[in-house]
Amino acid sequence: MAATQAEHLRVAVCGIFGRVGATVANAVAREDDLTLVGGVDVITSADGFAATNGQTVATATDLPAVLASADPNVIIDFTRADAARVNIRTALEHGVHAVVGTTGMDISEFEELGELAAANDLGLVVAPNFALSAVLMMHVSKLIGKHMDYCDIVEYHHENKIDAPSGTALQSAIDIREARGSDFISVPTEKETLFGTRGGVHGGINVHAARLPGMVAHQQVIFGGLGQTLTIRQDSTSTESFVPGVLLAVRAVPELRGLTHGLDALLGLA
Ligand code: NAP
Repeated sequence: MAATQAEHLRVAVCGIFGRVGATVANAVAREDDLTLVGGVDVITSADGFAATNGQTVATATDLPAVLASADPNVIIDFTRADAARVNIRTALEHGVHAVVGTTGMDISEFEELGELAAANDLGLVVAPNFALSAVLMMHVSKLIGKHMDYCDIVEYHHENKIDAPSGTALQSAIDIREARGSDFISVPTEKETLFGTRGGVHGGINVHAARLPGMVAHQQVIFGGLGQTLTIRQDSTSTESFVPGVLLAVRAVPELRGLTHGLDALLGLA
């Protein structure tokens, strides 16, 4: 069921037992104007999801079942790309807005789903990174890239992340290259003694991914010019870092139509 912003929003979380999903579900449960009504995950518990505020909500392995029983206005998805593309379509076909943080999907897929959202008079907010500091890092990087000729991106995530590069790193490379209007200089390595050492390349930006225990989500954008470098570094030190951005999107999405990609427009940065 769609709701206007003035109404109390009913929210279901896909991936509710995951790292980010659980954090976001707890945050929703704490907010006075939002109600956590259910959750979806691959393995669920008969006891449901017990939020840190003492509330318990029912969970299921099947989003249609949760849509039917819990009647959310908005779903939040932090799962895996293969699951998210099904979950988003299912929500939009059932008249439910979607806020998506899952990475590993192509922008063309989100554009197509955005058309479905628009056709159904719904909003779809997708952000490769909901941490406001990451949004600001990407914003200033687009400005800097116009004035520096070299750029490398190094991202660091926990050892179990299944996709590489991170959605943030890939989107950063795409956006920085687009804002600059031309490729950066990337001098070809004549002899690579260990294959892949120079990372993946987009528009002359070399992108490197480290996977280590103890990491949450971190990124450096390193610009180079004649005799100088400029490094922008962003660190999400806990999954709580994604909460303010997700809540911003959840509250905004009922008033949006079609695809909103990134939080720039919601933060007045677009
Ligand atoms: P995670 O701990 O592995 O959580 C994902 C959860 O989704 C797991 O509980 C997983 O179950 C579940 N899941 C898998 N398939 C599902 C399906 N079909 N239906 C419902 N649930 C399903 O991963 P995470 O660290 O929370 O990250 C989740 C996603 O968010 C990743 O794509 C990550 O890159 C992205 N992310 C985005 C942001 C952002 O700001 N945009 C920030 C952090 C992470 P199993 O464990 O049983 O597979």
